[in-house]
Amino acid sequence: MSKSLAGKTALITGSTSGIGLAYAKALAGEGANVVINGFGDADGIETERLGLEALSGAKALYSGHDLTKVDQIETMMQEAADAFGGVDILINNAGMQHVAPVEEFPLDKWDLIIALNLNAAFHTTRLAIPYMKEKKWGRIIQTASAHSLVASPFKSAYVTAKHGLNGFTKTVALEVATFGITANCISPGYVWTPLVENQIPDTMKARNMTREQVMNDVLLAGQPTKQFVTAEQVAATALYLCSDAAAQITGANLSIDGGWTAQ
Ligand code: NAD
Repeated sequence: MSKSLAGKTALITGSTSGIGLAYAKALAGEGANVVINGFGDADGIETERLGLEALSGAKALYSGHDLTKVDQIETMMQEAADAFGGVDILINNAGMQHVAPVEEFPLDKWDLIIALNLNAAFHTTRLAIPYMKEKKWGRIIQTASAHSLVASPFKSAYVTAKHGLNGFTKTVALEVATFGITANCISPGYVWTPLVENQIPDTMKARNMTREQVMNDVLLAGQPTKQFVTAEQVAATALYLCSDAAAQITGANLSIDGGWTAQ
């Protein structure tokens, strides 16, 4: 049986780990060529890249550029265009977090979070759209967050960037609506990944709590199902957004948050 994304190319930012790697596996499994990006151990990344190629026989390219730098984003998008003639599915997923009260928020962390979680999505999107318009087909998907819809204390840069991503995506959706291109946010609640694990020590400090208190009283406190979302559940939603069945879903913000933002 032919794979649903055979012949398409997907670029997923921040896909050496966590949710991004799950997207890459889901899309490669459906036959898409994938461009993966992100940091990490070179041997580990090469093993993942080969594993992605083995899923369906489509190509997997690693482009390890730092997406807080505009020139490196431009190089990555050019590498994808040179290898595959452009990107059909763009998933802006690279992101980072820092937890601190606003009056103590480190200036360099603010700039990095806005650059990676928001500005990078603008740059990849502006560079991907011309190829999508030419093909009259495209899917732009942002890993936003429940924090694109509601706030939490001590996460000012992250919440600002994710709310911005939501507005940016709606604007793009309107601009490309007649070209067969959709643009949507996927907004997970807490997904158990290194990004969540790494913020536990800072949250313990900021709120004067134990590890268990942070897990139960902060992370899962707002998630009515009391369960972490899985990266595979997020990736399955992206796969759906790439299908013909989802062609009329655009400018939407799809929550996968165990009921968090229903409250
Ligand atoms: P993660 O830390 O496991 O993965 C982040 C990825 O981004 C990694 O591949 C990392 O190498 C890459 N990255 C970091 N800095 C980069 C840079 N400067 N340039 C290029 N790549 C860079 O995190 P995750 O939890 O899988 O998060 C992925 C996305 O999901 C983020 O945008 C995050 O905000 C969002 N999100 C996560 C959760 C959660 O609970 N984990 C919830 C909602 C939204």
